Amino acid sequence: MPEAQSSKRAAILRMTSPFILFSDGQGNIFEDTSLYVTGRSGWDAVPVPAEDWIKLPSGGNLYELPGRRGIGIDVKTGTMRLCEKGWAVAAFIPPAHTGLYMAAYETMKDAPTLPLFCYTAAGWLAGEFYVPAVRIEPDIRQECEGYDDEQIKAGTEQLLKAYPHNRLVKHLMENCCMTYHCPAARNFAMGRWECPVPSSPACNANCIGCISFQPVEESIVSTQDRLTFKPTAEEIVEFTVPHLETAPFPIISFGQGCEGEPLLMWETIRDSIIDIRKHTTRGSLNINTNGSKPEAVRALCEAGLNSMRVSTNSAREYIYTPYYRPNNYTFSDLLESLKIVQGFGGWTSINYFVFPGMTDSIEEYEALRKLIIDTGLCMIQWRNFNIDPDWYLGKIGVSETGDCMGVKQMMELIREEFPNLKFGYFNPSIERIKGDFEKDFAH
Ligand code: SF4
Repeated sequence: MPEAQSSKRAAILRMTSPFILFSDGQGNIFEDTSLYVTGRSGWDAVPVPAEDWIKLPSGGNLYELPGRRGIGIDVKTGTMRLCEKGWAVAAFIPPAHTGLYMAAYETMKDAPTLPLFCYTAAGWLAGEFYVPAVRIEPDIRQECEGYDDEQIKAGTEQLLKAYPHNRLVKHLMENCCMTYHCPAARNFAMGRWECPVPSSPACNANCIGCISFQPVEESIVSTQDRLTFKPTAEEIVEFTVPHLETAPFPIISFGQGCEGEPLLMWETIRDSIIDIRKHTTRGSLNINTNGSKPEAVRALCEAGLNSMRVSTNSAREYIYTPYYRPNNYTFSDLLESLKIVQGFGGWTSINYFVFPGMTDSIEEYEALRKLIIDTGLCMIQWRNFNIDPDWYLGKIGVSETGDCMGVKQMMELIREEFPNLKFGYFNPSIERIKGDFEKDFAH
């Protein structure tokens, strides 16, 4: 956008906040110019600082929120009131971006629980949709413009033909790629970057917002079905070695959204890693995990694991435990797993579920600082938390979220205190881990 236009747009934003959006319940979205949009932090509706708004990035979506009325600021009186014109609206912001405020609304009695997506605040101004967010990751591996459906279709057919007896390739191509449209499986079909390797039909946690399994009594469904078989090391090695040898910035990632906990399959993963490294030294071998079994993690490091990403909704045990509802492990196990990988010189990340009002509370900030110091963490992946905010806070029993500083300010404080700690959204390639982190990635 020409300089003049962008500074003009910035000037407009400084002058006025975006207007609130509402839906007519038929999927049509309108702006209400009598109300500026607000943001949500914890249980509170708050004004959003002008500098926090960016245009809704491509690949983003808008959702109407049935049974919910948006909260806005009256452009004349400056007081907060509900938008009675229709249902509230939120944005699903695309990967590589972190939301700074959720959509603010009042929930009506009998409103349905919202499905497992993120609900970032959204507004309208000067012909554009705006969201309070930051681009946290320059890597373009999940840019929607980068996916070529013809190439994906051809790649899928070619992989199914090349591995006719491989149950995992069949699952990845028919379910993940062609049904769930999983960005990682689509990249595998296009022969590039991070290749997903799910392996575990079971899990030793019971996350409230599990995306691969939701109990029948819950009104929401999981976004994908959990794997139903245990792949063999042979099945894993068969397609991962060629991917590592041919793909740009290749990564093999155990632990995907369509399975349980991969550490429950650690022996198979260990054997796969040993066999993969007999064939190729190229690329990074990564595991996305809940970090529950430190000794299994040690065995994987001894076999040649390069990096590990541990998922968590908080650096505070009393916030973690009611969400993960762990079986036979505790929060201290994931800290121990991070220390073990760090001890082997491996790359460690947390898959940090960002929830404005919880993540940026003073208490969480102090707990996160301690986690970074105690584990020697390498990277924070600031991920949007895909969950109904009311449902989440209700389920973990949080009625008061405490003093908050704003997600953006928290990021700045952490970056200032830990200059070597990397921020992002995706697992880095070995080129990025060993090379120039700011340059060596898909762009
Ligand atoms: S650790 Fe993963 S698979 Fe297990 S319950 Fe949680 S989200 Fe689901």
